[in-house]
Amino acid sequence: MNEEAIQGLKPERVWHYFREISAIPRGSKNEKAVLEYIKKTAAAMGLKAKQDKVGNVVVFKPATPGKEGSTTVVLQVHTDMVCEKNRDVQHDFLKDGIKFHREGNYIKADGTTLGSDDGIGVASLLALLEDKSLVHGPIEGLFTIDEETGLTGANHIEPGFITGKIMMNLDSEEEGVLYIGCAGGLDTTMTVPVKRKAVTGKVAVLNVMIRGLKGGHSGVDIHLGRANALKLLTRTLMAIDAKTKMRLVSLEGGSKHNAIPREAEATIAIPAADEAKVAKVAAECEAAFKNAFGTTDPDVKVLVEKVKKVKPAFDDKSKAAVLGVLDALPHGVIRMSSDIPDLVETSTNVAVLKTSAAGVTIVTSQRSSIESEKDMIAAQVASVGRLAGAKIKPSDGYPGWQPNVNSAVLARGKEVYRNMYGKEPAVKAIHAGLECGIINDRVGGDVDTISFGPTIIGPHSPDECVAIDSVEKFYRYLTEIVKSVA
Ligand SMILES: [Zn+2]
Repeated sequence: MNEEAIQGLKPERVWHYFREISAIPRGSKNEKAVLEYIKKTAAAMGLKAKQDKVGNVVVFKPATPGKEGSTTVVLQVHTDMVCEKNRDVQHDFLKDGIKFHREGNYIKADGTTLGSDDGIGVASLLALLEDKSLVHGPIEGLFTIDEETGLTGANHIEPGFITGKIMMNLDSEEEGVLYIGCAGGLDTTMTVPVKRKAVTGKVAVLNVMIRGLKGGHSGVDIHLGRANALKLLTRTLMAIDAKTKMRLVSLEGGSKHNAIPREAEATIAIPAADEAKVAKVAAECEAAFKNAFGTTDPDVKVLVEKVKKVKPAFDDKSKAAVLGVLDALPHGVIRMSSDIPDLVETSTNVAVLKTSAAGVTIVTSQRSSIESEKDMIAAQVASVGRLAGAKIKPSDGYPGWQPNVNSAVLARGKEVYRNMYGKEPAVKAIHAGLECGIINDRVGGDVDTISFGPTIIGPHSPDECVAIDSVEKFYRYLTEIVKSVA
């Protein structure tokens, strides 16, 4: 099946290595086998390799004779992949290799993620390390671990593990685009302590639910202006609170720090006589949300359902603190870049909401391609929490990669692309994480870096596919730019 899919495809060695690594399960944090394969393959090529404590591997390809004086180039890829499958597919990501097929100009897996992110990068780097016909300077092929669930490999690179002062990251997903920057990020988690008091009198207990939102990735989709379920829930609760004596029992919503929340719900107690009032307020809120978010979230719903059990609810002061902080927390784009068209520079996402014995916990996440602005928005979010008496816990975070439009390797990259394909490559930055900023930070901050890759559609989902023609264009470009900098 895999064999058939890649038959006749070029560059033959890239597809050969892609097929080889696809047979090795390599979900994030399970990279051991693929790293062994890489070391074994490098040894068979007669190349030296070393591995650090967390597992990152660097393979050294010495310069071709006469090119020893050239700047060392780091070519960097990540070895792990996201493991997602369709509900109806039987697949054990710890045991089974990825099965894939050809669909026109695309290679696509059979109901699972394909791992072309960053498997094509890994395969291309192996093919390039193997190629004896290429004229090049010293090359360090850097294979990192666990990019997708923590950037663990990049975060643990020791100074001196790589020495090159030019780096090309092969993990972006649009052929014909050179990436020169990405966002750094951190999470800010806050817990608002709450006091509870028994609910007395004749009450109705209700679940108020926000459903039907699109959500999306908090980096790449944040500028689309989609509704945030936690924000809509807060607005609905405040509207109910204005019309009746509402007691708040619990709030939940969102699931991941890096996703815009799609669903949220709260349990409330109200005077039994006011049930119809609440239904009316919910309907009015739904209409208002449909009007405001009709384009981005046409299926938004505000649902109310009756629950039986009455539990102690927040006292009035706690209720005011919780609704106040949720309402005041900023969400969305804070600033667009003035240097790169259409790039979100700084943003924040109100991501997850949970109620426990300790109180109400809100997870938020901030991103910026500028370090000081990342700190600024995280401080602002923390200030809002502090005003409500919340305990604040920031995560360590990771540094961004600030775009340098005057980069020498970028100028070279543009020239090589122009000469090969007769047109200008696009130059972009992304509002999500790449390993470049972190690696650069770890090894001294003076590595001139660009990122490029083949065209991958739907990464991180079972829809993932890679455009066959873009792989050839990407690989040819990679070999040309390596030649050119030597
Ligand atoms: Zn990737």
